[in-house]
Amino acid sequence: MTELNTAMIEQYRNSFLQEVEANVEEGEWVKMCMQCGVCAGSCPLGNAWEHPPQEIFMMIRAGKREAVLSSDSMWMCTSCYNCISRCPRGLPITHIMHGLAHYAQRLGLVPKNQPTQRFAQMFWQNLNKKGRVNELKLGLSLYFMNGFGEGVKTSLKMKDIGLGMLKTKRMAVTEAFGGHGVKDLSGFQKIMKKAHELEDARIQKSGN
Ligand code: SF4
Ligand code: SF4
Repeated sequence: MTELNTAMIEQYRNSFLQEVEANVEEGEWVKMCMQCGVCAGSCPLGNAWEHPPQEIFMMIRAGKREAVLSSDSMWMCTSCYNCISRCPRGLPITHIMHGLAHYAQRLGLVPKNQPTQRFAQMFWQNLNKKGRVNELKLGLSLYFMNGFGEGVKTSLKMKDIGLGMLKTKRMAVTEAFGGHGVKDLSGFQKIMKKAHELEDARIQKSGN
């Protein structure tokens, strides 16, 4: 490759694209997108989003940092993998979308009250306590996340499903009093602590 070509490629890789490549999971793939639109057309929810994946990748390459990182779109990805299985360039689209969401979270740029982000936070806190998800508590946290009144209304609306789950032993009343955890809870907590340390070190190294 000539010096001129290298310089042109560097110019094309604007600073935001380079930031994504350095900090976002699978971010180095973004430059490979050829804007064919297959992912946007295959995404079952893409039409309802502000920016489908194809557009997000184009915006990264156009250096639209704030518009991308404060977007709600990557939080809407349901990990159905439809896009990945169809992308002619083999981009790990799902992972990039989740990576962008995670990076926006790290930078504190997630739109206020974004419901998927709030649910992810609740799920994570719930799982962290005992190494297993307490479905009863998670469900109730979800119903009550927008206030007491709405929580009561949603609980009443869902009561038949809840009772059915209790009856068929898909959920236990004991979950309300703590529920079951993993056998080796301290081992689980050590693993989580180590994972946090590694992540903090990675963030420090990348300067974000
Ligand atoms: S399908 Fe792949 S190459 Fe086509 S627009 Fe989507 S990410 Fe880009
Ligand atoms: S994995 Fe996410 S981005 Fe891809 S098609 Fe499914 S919902 Fe859309």
